[in-house]
Amino acid sequence: MFFLPFPADICAMTTFDPADLPIFRLAPSQLTYSQLRASFLKAAHHQGARLHAYPHPLKGVENENLCTDVAIAGDPDAEKWLVVVSGTHGVEGYYGSICQTRFLLEQDVSPAAGVGILLIHLINPYGTSWKRRVNEDNMDLNRNYLDFSQPLPANPGYEAVHDLFSTDIRDPQNREARDQRWHQAVQEKGYAALMNVVEAGQYLHRDGLYYGGDKPSWSNLTLHRILQDHLPAHAREIISFDLHTGAGDFGHPMLMAIAPEMYPGIARAQSIYGPWLYTVITGAGNASDTGISAAATGYTSAAMVKLFQDRTFTQLVVECGTYNSQQVGQPALLADHFLHLYGDPTSAEGQAIKQRLLDFFFPADPDWQALVQFRTRQILERALGALRNS
Ligand SMILES: [Zn+2]
Repeated sequence: MFFLPFPADICAMTTFDPADLPIFRLAPSQLTYSQLRASFLKAAHHQGARLHAYPHPLKGVENENLCTDVAIAGDPDAEKWLVVVSGTHGVEGYYGSICQTRFLLEQDVSPAAGVGILLIHLINPYGTSWKRRVNEDNMDLNRNYLDFSQPLPANPGYEAVHDLFSTDIRDPQNREARDQRWHQAVQEKGYAALMNVVEAGQYLHRDGLYYGGDKPSWSNLTLHRILQDHLPAHAREIISFDLHTGAGDFGHPMLMAIAPEMYPGIARAQSIYGPWLYTVITGAGNASDTGISAAATGYTSAAMVKLFQDRTFTQLVVECGTYNSQQVGQPALLADHFLHLYGDPTSAEGQAIKQRLLDFFFPADPDWQALVQFRTRQILERALGALRNS
């Protein structure tokens, strides 16, 4: 029996048919945060997982309550754990949530299997509900995992172009001048080099792009709390995943280890996945041809590696490529950014911008959907197998 904040229909559920879950009934473009949540909770409940909810202080786009939900399956006292996080970049959580729900339905998640399974569902629920990559404070969570008692990284390259992302574009003249200067900057520096600087992140402008924040976000604090609440102190071997979309070539899911330096978990991942694994070492000025920023600081991955340095720990990212970044991705992200700065996200125009952003991070193409879900299943299944056999 559940108590609030779980929806009443989950508590009252008597029959279960996976085909009834909203994620399998509805087209990708029609899905909402509430439908992802209901699908996940019902599947978890049906499979006998333990559920915990971490309520978010704000409401979603449909005035719904927002939570990060946690499902614990498998053996809750295990020494070996699989951890899967979805929705670090809110709108990418549509893909991640479906993969987590399918995992619960398709894998052996019984306690007898000897591995603990911790599924952290939509760690940035505000971003998922409002169909944003960022959180409620315009923070990019993958720039936010830093020690805020220390001086924060400076990004002088970003400072030189920040006004392109904050100027008030409601005036058509401003907008035209802004667009001209943007095209000029792209021509001078090259799109990839310019975006490598911009995507490295910045800590000064709340109204800017790739803002890492001035304090740990709700999601950052909640992730730490969840790990503390549910991973037993005797957990000695952990493989952890963060599920993303939007970087790389269309329909090419990449399995990645992203860290500021080599650590033993990367060798373990290589032994499990062989040539499937891409390794990206991050640092100021580093570049990567994978589509993710190697120059960025504050990655969730880096924080997790540090947190579990006394265990046998491997942090991996699944990054599923969608449309071209320059032609489709950045224009969609910028439209959403300006919408939240100067527009009305609930207007008809706002809704159209949201649909465009969702389609960039979660393409409706059925082959794309099938392929990324199948590949993610393979990746998680192999991790689970490696943990069981170790
Ligand atoms: Zn992402």
